Parts: sequence; structure tokens; C-alpha cells
Amino acid sequence: MKVILANPRGFCAGVYMAIDVVDQILTLIPERPIYVYHEIVHNRHVVSRFEDRGVVFVESVDEVPEGATLVFSAHGVSPQIRQTAQDRRLRAIDATCPLVTKVHAEASRYARDGYQVLLIGHNGHDEVVGTIGEAPHAIQVVESADDIPNLEIHDPDRLVYLTQTTLSRHDAQVIIGSLRAAYPSIKDPPSEDICYATTNRQLAVQRLAPECDLVLVVGSQNSSNSQRLAEIAWAEGTPAFLIDDKSEIKQDWFEGVDTLLVTSGASAPEDLVRGLLDMLITRYGAEVQQEDVSLESMEFGLPASLKILMREHGEDPTGRTIRIGSGHDIDSWVVQREQASVPVRMTISSHAAKSGPQPAPDDDSSDCS
Ligand code: SF4
Repeated sequence: MKVILANPRGFCAGVYMAIDVVDQILTLIPERPIYVYHEIVHNRHVVSRFEDRGVVFVESVDEVPEGATLVFSAHGVSPQIRQTAQDRRLRAIDATCPLVTKVHAEASRYARDGYQVLLIGHNGHDEVVGTIGEAPHAIQVVESADDIPNLEIHDPDRLVYLTQTTLSRHDAQVIIGSLRAAYPSIKDPPSEDICYATTNRQLAVQRLAPECDLVLVVGSQNSSNSQRLAEIAWAEGTPAFLIDDKSEIKQDWFEGVDTLLVTSGASAPEDLVRGLLDMLITRYGAEVQQEDVSLESMEFGLPASLKILMREHGEDPTGRTIRIGSGHDIDSWVVQREQASVPVRMTISSHAAKSGPQPAPDDDSSDCS
């Protein structure tokens, strides 16, 4: 069996940053537990690994004892949650992805300017809940074109649409087309809201899935961007399964499969992909070949709240950033794969810190800002 390994895949810069934030806090602060509001990223393994290290994930700020440390997850939170945390005198550290923060800022600004905001996304998803919280009176969620007749529109000339960052690009375009047909003067967001990582992982599956008999996406069921990757494979005519890890593999999936595509969602650790590959090589004699569909490089500044905490504990955050590139050296891993479990390395680099989301100078991902 031939295994095509999609690249880019796996961790995006926002997920690296969120995981790094919790990692740093665990290093800096001796007291346990550390609390995280919602799953830090939507991946079962990431969550359980942190639970093993003394992190407690909560669904309500009221569960956190007064004065404790609380991390806001990569998906962002509403201003009301921030206020509740402040009222309870919690030490809040914000691990929201800067690309989610961008959508929050857009929603809040348009609402302030008297626009109604149509937020294309999945009702109840943590990111959507947080964005709605910026202006609940002005935002309505559009999950599909079927929702459009039920929208309450006050002035069709004061409308803007925004999107969740992890949507299917194709599905979003269909909904946007229907919104434009219903409300021709609806405004576009100032820049693309679907993020660079979502876009690049989807394009890779779109390009490679038609050449394959089966697609395996490593990621959790509650990961929106991972779900979208499996859906895109099906839309390209190739069956796909979303799995948390190799233990969920079923033998009968591989009957008649000559070429298999493996990819992973933006919140799935690479060591789980390597574990799956190791099993495929051992059990099926798989030949692994990585396909680099696009190259990406992204750099985020550290969250301000983390920098303050670092300074308080004698760590100098000056010049430290979160930087991620397309560096999956699969060839040397295949050669040395007796070390099948490769720990995920965090990437606080010594590059000059920049404020907000910043592409690195050699950035190839033009659609992210
Ligand atoms: S998927 Fe995109 S928006 Fe979400 S954390 Fe990653 S980079 Fe940020």
C-alpha cells in the first residue's frame, strides 16, 4: 500500500500558541491545578495529556476558585466571560488565537457602527459563542442557506457577513452566494476570516484525495477543521474516516485500498500521525511519501497576559514569539522509525516579537492576516 502524507497538516500557529501558553504556565507556576476554560484546543489527546499534568478544564467560570489561574482557550471567549473572571479575581491568561481575535474585533466594530452581523458558522461551537458575545444584539448565526429566510433584517444596506475561522471554504462560498442574492448590498469582511491553516489543509485534501482510495484524518470528533477535512474528501469522491489515533483503525477499511491519504487537523499532535504511519508500515508494508501541496510559515507574538506572568517570575519574554513552518521531515523519520513516538516540540523562538498575527518574512500563505 502506498501512503500519501499531506503537507501542510496538523498543528497550526494558533494551536501551537495555545498549547505553549499552558506549557509555560505549568513551568512558571508551582500551584495546581491550573484551570482552562473549555478544551484548550479540540483534541482529546492534548486535553488528557494536560489533565495528567494538573490542568482542570471547566465549562463555567464559576467552577474556578477565586484567585486561581484561568486560561482562555484558542477558540476565544466573550467579553462577559472575561468580566466574570475579573469579578471572581481570577488570574486570566488569554490563549485566544489572534486570527479569532481578529473576527471578534470585526464583529464588535461593525455592531458599533450600526451594522447587523451575519456570522456564518456552527451554532454552539466555542468560537461562535465567543464571537456572538461581542455584540449579542447585532449578531445572527447562519449555518446554512436555509436559515436566510428566517433572519430578522432591519436595514438591508447595513449588513455585513463574517465567518467562523474553520469552515469549509466551499460551504462558506455557497452560503455567501445565497446571502448576496438575498441582500445584494451585504458587505464582505475586511479580509478573509477562514484562516490560513484551515485553507491550506483543505486545499491539500482537495488536491490529493482524488488520487487515493481512502483518506484518514487524524483529529477529534469535536474538531471543526478536522471534520471539514473528512467532508472534503467525501465531496471529492473518496471515503474518509476521522480518527483520534491508530487504535480506531478497522481492518476492513483497507480492503481494495492501494493508495491511502493521511492528513491531520490543526489541533492533532504529529506524534499521533507518526504512530499511525508506524502501524501502517508494520502491518501493511506501507510506503510513505509526503506531498507538499503548499508551504506555510506563521509567527505570532506571545499573549500580553503571558508576558506579564513571565516577567513576574523572572523570565524575559523580549523577542520571544510563536513561529511555525512546514517542517515535517518525514524521510528521516521513516529511516529512524524505531523512535515511532516523536514528542511534540513547542516552538517559542528567539525571533523578534511582533504584535498580533504576523506572517514571517518568508511567508507563502498570502491569505492569512
Ligand atoms: S485553526 Fe486557524 S483560527 Fe483556529 S487556532 Fe489555528 S490558526 Fe487560529
